[in-house]
Parts: sequence; C-alpha cells; structure tokens
Amino acid sequence: MKYVCALYSCKSFSPKFFCTKQIYFFHVRVEGEVENLKVKLLRYTSDAELLCGAAALTSTQSGSPSEILEKIDSKTAKRIIKRVTGYGHASVIEHASFTFSIEGVSRVMTHQLVRHRIASYTQQSQRYVTYDTVESYMTPSSIAKTAEAKKIFDETLEEISETYKKLLRLGIPKEDARFILPNAAKTNIIVTMNARELRHFFNLRCCTRTQWETREVAVEMLKQVKKVAPALFENAGPSCVKLGYCPEGRMKPPQCNVKEIRKLFRSL
Ligand SMILES: Cc1cc2nc3c(=O)[nH]c(=O)nc-3n(C[C@H](O)[C@H](O)[C@H](O)COP(=O)(O)OP(=O)(O)OC[C@H]3O[C@@H](n4cnc5c(N)ncnc54)[C@H](O)[C@@H]3O)c2cc1C
Repeated sequence: MKYVCALYSCKSFSPKFFCTKQIYFFHVRVEGEVENLKVKLLRYTSDAELLCGAAALTSTQSGSPSEILEKIDSKTAKRIIKRVTGYGHASVIEHASFTFSIEGVSRVMTHQLVRHRIASYTQQSQRYVTYDTVESYMTPSSIAKTAEAKKIFDETLEEISETYKKLLRLGIPKEDARFILPNAAKTNIIVTMNARELRHFFNLRCCTRTQWETREVAVEMLKQVKKVAPALFENAGPSCVKLGYCPEGRMKPPQCNVKEIRKLFRSL
C-alpha cells in the first residue's frame, strides 16, 4: 500500500501521526479503520465503457445500437461519455452496473448504505444467523484505543450475547431474540448499483461529512471501479472533486481542504 501523508495541515497532529500506511483526511482515517473490512467488486458489466458510449451515440446516429456497439472503439467511447455526461445527460451511464460484496461491517454502516434507493441489496439475515461470539461485533477504533471504553464496550456486548443466547435457549425465535442485538453487530451485504447511482453515492459517501465506516467502504468501492472503468468514474468522489468547491455551505468542516481532497481522489 502506498504512503499518503497529510491531506491538510491540522496543527494538532504531529507529522508522525500522518506518516503511516493509511490515507487520512479531515483527521479521520478513510482506509485502515475497519479491521478485516472486505469490499470486493464481484461482477460488473463487461465492456462497460463501450456499452455506455454506444448508448450515448444511439441518440444521434442512424445505426442500430448493436451496429454502433460493434464499431465503437475505447477512445471514442471515453470521449463520448465525457461529453454527454458533461451536458448532464447522465442516463447513458445507467447501462453499466457493478456488484460488490461488503463483508464484516456493522449494521450502522449497512443502515446508511441501504438509504440509497437506486440499488439492489441482499443482506445476511439475523433471522437465520446466530450472533454469539466476540467476532460477531464491530468495535470502533475510538473505543478500541481507550482501555476504559473498550472494557465497558466488551462487557456490554458480552452481556447482550449472554442474554441473546438465554432467549434462544428459552425457545424464543432468532427473529425475536435479535431485538436486543446492537448496531455493532457485524453483517455481510451484496449491493448492485449502476454507474450513475454509484457516482451519486460517491458524492455523498466519500465526503468527510459521512460517517467513517461508510466512507471507508465508499472509498474502497471507488478505487475498485476506477480500475475497471476509469472514464465512467472520472472526477468521481465527494462532490467537491467535480465542482471545485464544497457544496455543504456552513456545514463544511473548517479544516477540510478541498484542494487536497480533490488531489487525493483524482490520484486514487
Ligand atoms: C452526511 C450525511 C448525513 C446524513 N444524515 C441523515 C440524517 O440525519 N437523517 C436521515 O434520515 N438521513 C440522513 N442522511 C441520508 C440522506 O438523507 C439520504 O437518505 C441518503 O444519503 C440517500 O441519498 P439520496 O436520497 O440522494 O439518494 P438515493 O436514494 O441514492 O437516490 C438517488 C437520487 O435519485 C433521486 N430519487 C430517489 N428516490 C427519489 C424519490 N422518491 N423522489 C424523488 N427523487 C428520488 C434523487 O435525485 C436522489 O438524489 C445523511 C446522508 C449523509 C451523506
């Protein structure tokens, strides 16, 4: 993993703090926070850029979509995608879809993820899967690094697990016993989004205003789709990457350095 140092100068952090194998911005890690986080791009539309480029040309050329797709080359497709989406006609990139497996995240994260409606989801069910070991839960690093907080957290989770198991032993079905499970419960989810929705998702969820776990997942998803379809995801990332300014107005965190964030996302 490459070294990426401070993205903005925050005087309260020493250079040592920044010079680690993680990506930081707004003093929050965007990579490395979630232990054992696995985001995998499982499947995606093959020749996604050719397909979206052909879709864009279908509106202006007399040939059939299949003929256009047969003839279009990668360079033309990239140029057309850039031009047409530049007009704001983003529906042409809806033809490309991407499916991810997101493993070992908390239910906090997936609750935020599923708020994005133009997507398909399948999530591990608490009606069928039992939550009875320490590994079943996710510990935020702010808690893990503070001994007293970690002790309280672990003891509470242990108590919850014990109560949960007692309920199961009493014959309470999993679907009811789960009512006492915490937001920290780990889960796996599979999500499919098209390129247009993904770009919108990245605008919101790669932003420093988004909760760290969701942001870490979003940044990982972005890195992976950029590798397979760079033209579809050019300038993707938090809104400021494309806009050149932060649209959050007075909600913009004062330390957030738009210039540095743009640089980071363009180099992902
Ligand atoms: C930093 C941050 C803080 C947040 N805080 C809160 C919070 O405190 N409480 C809370 O409840 N939520 C919160 N959210 C969630 C947020 O309100 C959205 O529900 C979530 O981000 C999904 O975004 P969306 O609705 O734009 O997009 P999606 O559901 O991904 O939809 C994409 C786009 O499709 C269009 N669209 C989809 N459905 C409709 C529809 N029914 N009608 C018209 N247009 C539609 C819209 O243009 C929309 O932007 C927060 C999100 C962020 C990023």
